[in-house]
Amino acid sequence: MWPFRPLFRHFRNRFVAAIFNSTNSVTTWFKTIPMTLIRVGIGHDTHRLEPGGPLRLGGIDVPFDRQAVGHSDADVLLHALTDALLGAAALGDIGELFPDNDPANRDRDSGQMLQIAHAQVEAAGYRVVNIDGIVFAEKPKLKDYKPQIARRISELLNLNPDQVNVKAKTGEGVDAIGTLAAIAAQCVVLLEQQTSPSHTATGG
Ligand code: MG
Repeated sequence: MWPFRPLFRHFRNRFVAAIFNSTNSVTTWFKTIPMTLIRVGIGHDTHRLEPGGPLRLGGIDVPFDRQAVGHSDADVLLHALTDALLGAAALGDIGELFPDNDPANRDRDSGQMLQIAHAQVEAAGYRVVNIDGIVFAEKPKLKDYKPQIARRISELLNLNPDQVNVKAKTGEGVDAIGTLAAIAAQCVVLLEQQTSPSHTATGG
């Protein structure tokens, strides 16, 4: 069988060489496929509560005998969401974009701040996949307001209602949340970016 062995070696080497020589064009071909890049962001915020009302939350006014205190309209959920959006796109945080020592931000509508941050995220090439948020409040009961808040957020960001979810937790009567001294919120945002095919790839 010895005459076949060199022949086999010859064709095997030709085959391996062909694979190695074509590696560059295979890599190049892959670069022509649009890829989806996904990124996640997290946001958290806390505000003090004081007698008054209504409670500004998630872009709506919730009837309550206490209100959140802050430099802007103190919407704790929209602040957490704005931070999550900016974080996912590596664009800093809400404090850098809207400093609390800037008179222009006094009593400012947090819905407007959210839209400005969202515009920056879109300008960077990202779009929102979904949003999930939690409000930490002992009172009021938010069961009846959660759908309305989620809908308001989807309107502010031009999303479908099923891209936004809002949950609520009490403070079990303890700490700042449970004693109605404060309200807090957390948000997670997923972004996606469509990367265009590399220009250098078309040369082959
Ligand atoms: Mg805040």
